[in-house]
Amino acid sequence: MRIAKTEGADLAEIRIDHLASSELSKWREIVANKCLPVIVTNRAAWEGGKWTGDEDERLSILSEAELLGADYIDVELAACEKFAPLRSKTTSAKLILSHHDFERTLTTGEIGDICAKMRRHGADVSKVAMMATSALDLVPVFTVLRTARDPTVVLAMGAYGQASRVAAGAFGAHLTFASAGVGRESAPGQVTTERLRKMFKFEKVTKSTRLYGIIGNPVTQSMSPALHNAAMGHMGVDGLYMYLPVVNDVARFIREMCTLGFSGFSVTIPHKLEAMKAADHVDETARKIGAINTIVRRDDGKLEAYNTDWMAAIGAIEDMLPSRSMLGTRVVCLGAGGAGRALAFGALEKGARQVIVVNRSIDRAAELVAELGKDRASVMSIDELSNVADFDVLINSTSVGMHPRLGMPVPEHVLRSKPLVFDAVYNPLQTELLKKAGEYGCVHVSGFEMFVRQGAEQFRLWHPGVEPPMQLIRQVVMDQLMSD
Ligand code: NAP
Repeated sequence: MRIAKTEGADLAEIRIDHLASSELSKWREIVANKCLPVIVTNRAAWEGGKWTGDEDERLSILSEAELLGADYIDVELAACEKFAPLRSKTTSAKLILSHHDFERTLTTGEIGDICAKMRRHGADVSKVAMMATSALDLVPVFTVLRTARDPTVVLAMGAYGQASRVAAGAFGAHLTFASAGVGRESAPGQVTTERLRKMFKFEKVTKSTRLYGIIGNPVTQSMSPALHNAAMGHMGVDGLYMYLPVVNDVARFIREMCTLGFSGFSVTIPHKLEAMKAADHVDETARKIGAINTIVRRDDGKLEAYNTDWMAAIGAIEDMLPSRSMLGTRVVCLGAGGAGRALAFGALEKGARQVIVVNRSIDRAAELVAELGKDRASVMSIDELSNVADFDVLINSTSVGMHPRLGMPVPEHVLRSKPLVFDAVYNPLQTELLKKAGEYGCVHVSGFEMFVRQGAEQFRLWHPGVEPPMQLIRQVVMDQLMSD
């Protein structure tokens, strides 16, 4: 409890069923010496808890906890009739009636019916927790919370449900649960209290907070939540940005979340193509690239889709070119995957004279060149490239050089004509290619700059009129990379 208090919790839950039998008697001391208001819970094994002892003893402990000064006691809905006669008439403890389903997800109607039944049985707070099996399970959680008139807690457990814990305040939940440190979770999907407060600014989140998140699979490694939450906090934007792991039905998920009030999304691998289907309007260049990474919900509810990767990378390159412009340049693009497409189309969009695509799989390069237009794009092998001396920009958009696939994507002599070198890879920050570029005297730009700027462009799209705090964003991304 002291850790919870230090981390900033307002309330601590004492799980009597988690105490070893040799320590069971200590619960009275813990309640008597509480340093925070407490919820006392003694969860039965038949409801997913650890209490396997006598049911009468379990309930009488809760009744005693009321008298000893518990601020809340948590009783399972299924046990509330048995517990009712044990309640003290003079207690000031509030009654949380709870229902847990670890097997399946519940519909909006089912959760609503359960909460109504809890209120009929005298619940001061109704609490329903269910295991989320997909991101769409957030829909009934948020729908019930948004319309609840009495104190209610609805949580989706597991990784898909984490947003229900982080964004609980935005939907008017009475409280949320967080752990007192990694490994101390009392239910799957809990974040630590420290993270809930520092990264997700829990105390500041209200029903008027604008909601954002990153959709992908996986997303846990993403630096975007740290970037956007820090930037919004710094600029006084009332917003919350969360992780949204999604496996299937991405377009439906986006639409449902927007109906529930979300204002925008970042989209990452593998959904950059599929997410486009959710949009009412797709930016022209993003459509050509065939990938988006940003969804913006306009005030009229319409969804716009953009690709800020190309804007970010090309902007970073242009800033370092002598003319500050791609206009008339000859560009070599190593790679024809998602990043390669964004950079090749982006270069032409900004006036490059020619784009030469070099890719391990020639067919993929040829497909991209056909889409770019053969008048301004061509395919080359690495051997052919070795004989080309007159190009201005060398882009690496392959994953060669990225941890753990360290190494060079092209022989170093390709650098002899001193092109500007851009490497989309940002982990490590200093790739082999960038090191060699430095040795050859080439101006060079890291993928770090692309990542920072794609986030900043998203910030501009979501918060018109507010300039992203670039120095802070760079620092946050650097800290994240250094902590990996
Ligand atoms: P992707 O769609 O999977 O494409 C991967 C590209 O790398 C393809 O062209 C692939 O060639 C090539 N490749 C992979 N392994 C190779 C190898 N051993 N030898 C030669 N070529 C190889 O991935 P992506 O999304 O474009 O990402 C590519 C890189 O860009 C990653 O390192 C990623 O981290 C980085 N990136 C950075 C940012 C940023 O903000 N800085 C944003 C997006 C991506 P084939 O077609 O032959 O498979």
